[in-house]
Amino acid sequence: MTPVPAHEALFAELADLPAAALLTGAAAGAAYAADATGNLMQPPLAVLRPADTAELSRMLAACHRLRLPVVVQGGRTGLSNGATPRRGEVALCLDRMTALAPVDPVSATVVAEAGVSLQRVQEAAEAAGFGFGVDIGARGSATVGGLCATNAGGLNVIRNGMTRAHVVSLEVVLADGRVLGHVRPLAKDNSGFDLKQLFIGSEGVLGIISRVCLALRPPVGPLVTLFGAAPGIDTAGALLARLRRDAGGPVTAFEVIDEAMFQRILALGHRPPVAPEGIQILAEIETADRDHVQELLMRAVEAGELSDVVLAASGAQRQALWALREGCAEAVAAMAAPVGFDIGLPVAAMPDFLTETRARLAAALPNAGIAVFGHLGDGNLHYIVDTDAPGEAARIVLGAVAAAGGTISAEHGLGREKAGYLPLVRSADEIAVMRAMKDALDPAHILNPGRVLPPPTPLND
Ligand SMILES: Cc1cc2nc3c(=O)[nH]c(=O)nc-3n(C[C@H](O)[C@H](O)[C@H](O)COP(=O)(O)OP(=O)(O)OC[C@H]3O[C@@H](n4cnc5c(N)ncnc54)[C@H](O)[C@@H]3O)c2cc1C
Repeated sequence: MTPVPAHEALFAELADLPAAALLTGAAAGAAYAADATGNLMQPPLAVLRPADTAELSRMLAACHRLRLPVVVQGGRTGLSNGATPRRGEVALCLDRMTALAPVDPVSATVVAEAGVSLQRVQEAAEAAGFGFGVDIGARGSATVGGLCATNAGGLNVIRNGMTRAHVVSLEVVLADGRVLGHVRPLAKDNSGFDLKQLFIGSEGVLGIISRVCLALRPPVGPLVTLFGAAPGIDTAGALLARLRRDAGGPVTAFEVIDEAMFQRILALGHRPPVAPEGIQILAEIETADRDHVQELLMRAVEAGELSDVVLAASGAQRQALWALREGCAEAVAAMAAPVGFDIGLPVAAMPDFLTETRARLAAALPNAGIAVFGHLGDGNLHYIVDTDAPGEAARIVLGAVAAAGGTISAEHGLGREKAGYLPLVRSADEIAVMRAMKDALDPAHILNPGRVLPPPTPLND
């Protein structure tokens, strides 16, 4: 007798669930075939869409028994192909787990299921008189589960820290269906290991995050928003130091865009607020003392840290300045074959890194386009190479990052894109410990196989 294929056995086992819980054929097609990286696409074998933790647990237990590989999906806005299916994988998508509890104003927390979008959390926080400390351009689609799984950074890390800093507690479903964790608003809990930290940033290879208790913060106070041009990345760094020291309030954002990227943004139809030369800076300071910031900026101009600068005079102007920064994603999407590197480096090491890497790329890949933007305040640059030789570009850029003492992923995670390069920045012992954790929590390796951990033999390209 021919054995029943594992996925058919799965469908039979879950046959009592409503139609929305299990998609096959065209319904499981293009919509679930890729994340936002833009270079890979593969429809999953089927899509499992649990309505709650109990259903998620049951689905995973079945996949575990049948040894069916599972790709975990939130909003598929990830930029490392972590949520992009590989051939033969079943997608487990959290898009039906969208319950959001009312804000608890006493503990200043809110409990969300994994599929709730970041924007809904932000709006709920605001409606209750609070703020939420994480913001990214993909806020409308990125989910709470995805933010936690990637430990997302974003636009306000300089002030508020990464997603990890906003997670009070979480619930996770392990590969065999066991449910772990207590979702409760306890700011302090030192009873044994803090297991939630293991799952935050683990990109779905250790378990599936199902519910999260998030910390809220006071609403953001008055902001002064500036857009300026600095002669170089070193002078931009000097300005950042000046603002951090003397601005009279916390710097809540400090974003940079290099000239090549800015030209691409202008080509989309935006107008430059200052002369489009050098490093463009969008920064915000939480203070009501606009005059003081203005004075400080005049001193920065005299010191050569800025060649030009403007302040937003209204909410509309502020939005227009942020639209320039958010134009980066659109400008990257308009490139022919962009390869994105989400690197982290000490700010002091950036000038040499940028000069040397550009020279190496120009020598090896003379037709490649290079454009850089990022969160300078966090030492995080998005280094984009438009090239048809992604392997060579990765060897040059990531090799240079490692040599400069940096990291190959500051915020987007490794997914399938960068897993093979992990040995550049982690020791053999560190990787052995990571593998041991994977073996302990997912012994059959059904969860997001091929992501995060490097393949046993080095990659050839
Ligand atoms: C325009 C744009 C701007 C962006 N800006 C930023 C930024 O500033 N900072 C930043 O850090 N990122 C940024 N990103 C990347 C992306 O939005 C984040 O990585 C986000 O956290 C992904 O959330 P998601 O729900 O879309 O996850 P997905 O893309 O669906 O998944 C991402 C990874 O997490 C895993 N995963 C998803 N849900 C779960 C879960 N519930 N449990 C376990 N694993 C899970 C997936 O398997 C995958 O490996 C940006 C993306 C875009 C398109």
